[in-house]
Amino acid sequence: MKRIAIIGGGISGLSAAYALEEKRYNSGASLEYVLYESSPQLGGVLRTEQIDGCILEAGPDSFITEKPWAADLCHALGLGDQLIGSNDAHRKTYILVRGRLVAMPDGLMFMVPTKILPTGLSSLFSWKTKLRMARELFHPPHVAAGDESVASLVERHYGTEMVDRLADPLLSGVYGGEAASLSVRAVLPRFAEMERAHGSLGKAMLAARRKMSRSSGKAPLFTSLKNGMQHLAEAVVARLTPSSLVTGAHVQAIQPEAGGWVVSAGLQSDHFDAVIVALPAPAAAQLLSICSPELARELAAIAYSSSITVGLGYGRDARQSLPPGFGILVPRSEGKRMLAATFVHNKFSYRAPEDRALLRCFFVGANAESVWEFSDAEIVAIVRSELQQILGLRAEPRFARVYKWKSAMAQYGVGHLERLERIERLRQRLPGLALAGNGYRGIGVPDCVRSGRDAAELVVRL
Ligand SMILES: Cc1cc2nc3c(=O)[nH]c(=O)nc-3n(C[C@H](O)[C@H](O)[C@H](O)COP(=O)(O)OP(=O)(O)OC[C@H]3O[C@@H](n4cnc5c(N)ncnc54)[C@H](O)[C@@H]3O)c2cc1C
Repeated sequence: MKRIAIIGGGISGLSAAYALEEKRYNSGASLEYVLYESSPQLGGVLRTEQIDGCILEAGPDSFITEKPWAADLCHALGLGDQLIGSNDAHRKTYILVRGRLVAMPDGLMFMVPTKILPTGLSSLFSWKTKLRMARELFHPPHVAAGDESVASLVERHYGTEMVDRLADPLLSGVYGGEAASLSVRAVLPRFAEMERAHGSLGKAMLAARRKMSRSSGKAPLFTSLKNGMQHLAEAVVARLTPSSLVTGAHVQAIQPEAGGWVVSAGLQSDHFDAVIVALPAPAAAQLLSICSPELARELAAIAYSSSITVGLGYGRDARQSLPPGFGILVPRSEGKRMLAATFVHNKFSYRAPEDRALLRCFFVGANAESVWEFSDAEIVAIVRSELQQILGLRAEPRFARVYKWKSAMAQYGVGHLERLERIERLRQRLPGLALAGNGYRGIGVPDCVRSGRDAAELVVRL
């Protein structure tokens, strides 16, 4: 009987456990596993609260539909009827420009314009940037030889205003990071490919748009679950063997021994044939620092940023006073602490009663660190003051919740893919070790699900 340890009970570790459970029952594989989770609760950052008739997400609120692995897992778990799509008919995002909200023009795909008129008429960009967009179609800049930051690629094509007003706020929302430090090849590989194939990003996006409009699929951009993302974690847990799940067990060390691995948590040590480390990369580095200092150094070099989400529930008047759409992005140059706010009641159905507004505001990276030590009441006061400045929202919230996530979001810096190759070579020197989590090939929930499943495949094959 093969014994496998899984360290970390977030969605990456749970997906690995589910894949092993499936192997056991569907293919009769002779294996058993133990999943160690340091906190009392499984699911990691997937956490949902029900407050005052609203469904409030503390961590992720959805996943991108284009990446199938999370939805596939939901279907396998029998949650297909629980999946909901974002209300894309109401998708509109506003950017704060010199204190005023400007709607993102129609036809902007990520940050590349594909419709001339809406972009030309929008006050989001200066004439200088608009001219650059037109010029980029016919005179694209040179193609970069190696990896570079997202800011560097966007600046080369469209100038600094595009970085400040779009690239940086969009990436802050997804990665909690800055366009100036994130790797194009790791974070926006499609952009790097489009540049190589077409030179002009505008031309490449126009070609992609034509292809998309030919295909009949009108899938929503984001998918979530009716009762929130925690439901996914709970549904996985319900399929696992209860005696295999050890919560409140912080693993301090793992060591190769006698052709297998010894896992030490508290005063207990146990021997396994293989181990899946499903942790943020710096936590994985700590566990591996004795058996492979070189691998630990590479893992520790993957930076992580912290984030704070603040959920606020309001009554009918506030809902009526808010603009339509999914929410706002606040470029760093606007000098606010908050970097984004989602109008949750518009983005998804089933999140708030008809007569309520549900807002989720974000602090990320340095902005999150700058208020980290503040009390919840102080953080809520900052959010309310900024919402008043930006949206004129003066109403008293019916409830407010603050969630802090320390070093939870991986930042794929320039050269990340090369680092992954070095990590893979070093990992291969440690038979029976697999790595999963958001530090490697995708930070989103679908990528984490895939990473857990792949790690399980790897250790079963050994
Ligand atoms: C605020 C926020 C919003 C996000 N929004 C989205 C979104 O909308 N869509 C999307 O797709 N993605 C989003 N993400 C990203 C995505 O949710 C995460 O990347 C993913 O859930 C990470 O899962 P994980 O299992 O790899 O890590 P985690 O969820 O961090 O789980 C790791 C687990 O390991 C445990 N652990 C740590 N050290 C040890 C140890 N030594 N021993 C035992 N256990 C240990 C921790 O307690 C934790 O439970 C968001 C992330 C955050 C923080």
